Amino acid sequence: MDTSLVLYNSLNGKKETFKPIIPNNVGMYVCGPTVYSKVHLGNCRTFISFDLIFRYLQHLGYNVRYVRNITDAGHLENDADEGEDRIAKKARLESIEPMEVVQRYTVDFRNTMAQFNALVPSIEPTATGHILEQIELIKDIIKKEYAYEVNGSVYFDVIKFNKDIPYGKLSGRNIKDLIHNTRSLEGQSDKKNPQDFALWKKAEPLHILRWPSPWSDGFPGWHLECTAMSTKYLGTQFDIHGGGMDLKFPHHECEIAQAESIHKKSQSIACNNTSPANIWMHANMLTLNGNKMAKSTGNNILPAEMFSGENSLFKKSFSPMVVRFFMLQAHYRSIVDLSESALVASEKGFQRLIQGLSKIDTLPIGDKSTGFDLNLWQNKCYAAMNDDFNSPLLIAHLFDAVKYINSLANGLQKINKTDLNKLSKLMNSFFFDVLGLLNT
Ligand code: AMP
Ligand code: ZN
Repeated sequence: MDTSLVLYNSLNGKKETFKPIIPNNVGMYVCGPTVYSKVHLGNCRTFISFDLIFRYLQHLGYNVRYVRNITDAGHLENDADEGEDRIAKKARLESIEPMEVVQRYTVDFRNTMAQFNALVPSIEPTATGHILEQIELIKDIIKKEYAYEVNGSVYFDVIKFNKDIPYGKLSGRNIKDLIHNTRSLEGQSDKKNPQDFALWKKAEPLHILRWPSPWSDGFPGWHLECTAMSTKYLGTQFDIHGGGMDLKFPHHECEIAQAESIHKKSQSIACNNTSPANIWMHANMLTLNGNKMAKSTGNNILPAEMFSGENSLFKKSFSPMVVRFFMLQAHYRSIVDLSESALVASEKGFQRLIQGLSKIDTLPIGDKSTGFDLNLWQNKCYAAMNDDFNSPLLIAHLFDAVKYINSLANGLQKINKTDLNKLSKLMNSFFFDVLGLLNT
């Protein structure tokens, strides 16, 4: 059986055979939610995609350290360092403590992921728990002369950095185009160039989430927390960094620049991958009515609204497992549109699989097996998942097995005891362990 796992690396746009830095061990960092509101189904899709990846890596026998952070400070309303802190704003609007906002939506996020039967990551660090680490990183970047301080805030100098190490390698954005296309934002006169991004922001008098630092009482930039936490728990070079496609730029691009600036990895280093992660993986977007599901536009649906049926979009409710199955019926790199007809089809398919599974133990045992090449089928299932986690293809193979199970139940084919045990074990392991589905 071919067990080599091939992954699509967003960094070079190629599929690569996966070779972990430390044999049998995988370090994976995934950007977690900003806990200022309930997660919508789009957010959930990204985390379910990485849950599939986490599960399959473990299924292959890897010892995985999966780090997924909780962003509880530093994420401003606008990705260009503009606006209020999302959590502080929610706290202001609801007249509650910022940490009450954080608690409420962290709990909501964890409960929601549990409803989807997502495994708990190995570590779930918070940005506010790593302020000291972030301050140390900023000192380091200043020492390497890729950051400058202005009026108590510290900015990363993208133009200077780009002279030594190319910026834009993940998103494919060229610095000249960036210079051309980035508008100068009002109130950002502190920045030397509009492409620069904040490492530390001096807090305005009314800004609640603030910490002392050598530069001012303030707060860290959003991109910095992920560099601090991935480095702390996975080291300066680790295997996989993931997140939703919309985080590629600026968030992940800035993470790469921060890490490279600290380690001053230059082009002359033999390895052509100077990024902190060997492989970058991006889960594609869930859309609704053809547009990205997003909190800001109101084009979204909450998991609870879907499960209860209390929403204006769909005529009926759908269970967490049907929604999970619907998501896994698409490849994690494809865009998926949420529609009633697609969900109804998934519900039928899911029930067909459950019925197939429930029949396995009642099948008659024959003296020999006929009509199905079990080894070939097993190889096809693994080949699907080894090809960049192709869950829709795996599910198609599971449906083939259900057809066989039905023909066994009808007496049209036969299966011997050894093959039946093997079929049962594989079906259960793909359904429950790898796809993370439950029989509900
Ligand atoms: P946020 O809480 O906004 O930082 O988002 C949490 C995660 O959800 C990030 O990895 C985003 O890329 C992801 N995300 C946001 N919108 C969608 C969507 N419509 N489909 C899939 N993932 C999304
Ligand atoms: Zn991140």
